[in-house]
Amino acid sequence: MSEIHKAKGFEKIVEPIRLTPQSKITFQCYPGVPCFKLCCSDLYLPLTPYDILRLRDFLKLTTDEFLLLYTEPFILPKSGLPIARLKMRDDEEKTCPFLGEGGCTVYEVRPLACRYYPLGFGLFRNRDERRNEEFYYLVKEGFCQGLESGEVMTVEEYRKSQGIPGLEEPVLEWAEIIMKKESLGPIEVPEKSLELFFMVSTNPERFRSFVFETRFLEIFEVDEKTLEEIKKDDLKLLQFGFKWLKTVLFGENLVKKRKESPSIKKAKPF
Ligand code: SF4
Ligand code: SF4
Repeated sequence: MSEIHKAKGFEKIVEPIRLTPQSKITFQCYPGVPCFKLCCSDLYLPLTPYDILRLRDFLKLTTDEFLLLYTEPFILPKSGLPIARLKMRDDEEKTCPFLGEGGCTVYEVRPLACRYYPLGFGLFRNRDERRNEEFYYLVKEGFCQGLESGEVMTVEEYRKSQGIPGLEEPVLEWAEIIMKKESLGPIEVPEKSLELFFMVSTNPERFRSFVFETRFLEIFEVDEKTLEEIKKDDLKLLQFGFKWLKTVLFGENLVKKRKESPSIKKAKPF
């Protein structure tokens, strides 16, 4: 067993307490803490579409290059939807590919899940108030010495200190799609729907070709302003993609169809 695995042990406790933005936690993490870097190996680290854009740009890669070098497909257990996750190195410790001697080499653009740790998060549908509500929980791993030390802060203060709200907001509709699929339970999803979801979730360059180089614009009505924006802005393109996914997968009609064409009728929703 490697030194990291010995130090990490096997203890991982997810505290079964639902935290709100106002709940208090005690935590501090800094370079030099004895467990420094122990939390950066052997992870199932999901990437949001915005994580992919930011890491890709930071590393000056195309999306295809980034996906090929650093990710692997991953099926989200509850929803069955395919996304990309960070591929750990092939060493004994299965370290994160971005872990360097001095810590995280992509710290400025580290993924959302890294920023949350030691918190976990989720969304649930409040049916009475007809809105989505987020919840949080504490992941207590035996090796993490930052827990129960340092300053007391609210979950919201911690989220802000990690720059989380500004990274979550642009992919809110993506999270809603996953949550909606989760709420539908284990229904069979057509292969084509999974492919479309994966394309929009991981690869704006491919989605842009799909919009501009296929019959997409003959089928869907997209105004000139939006077209101009999504031609050059990847984040705007993604957000358009989330609305389009909601339209074709759940019939939410957020992107208008020009007319009922045979190809639309054939597309099966979830
Ligand atoms: S991206 Fe950075 S913070 Fe996240 S696991 Fe890798 S090295 Fe650690
Ligand atoms: S204190 Fe926790 S989060 Fe910080 S380096 Fe140690 S294990 Fe990782």
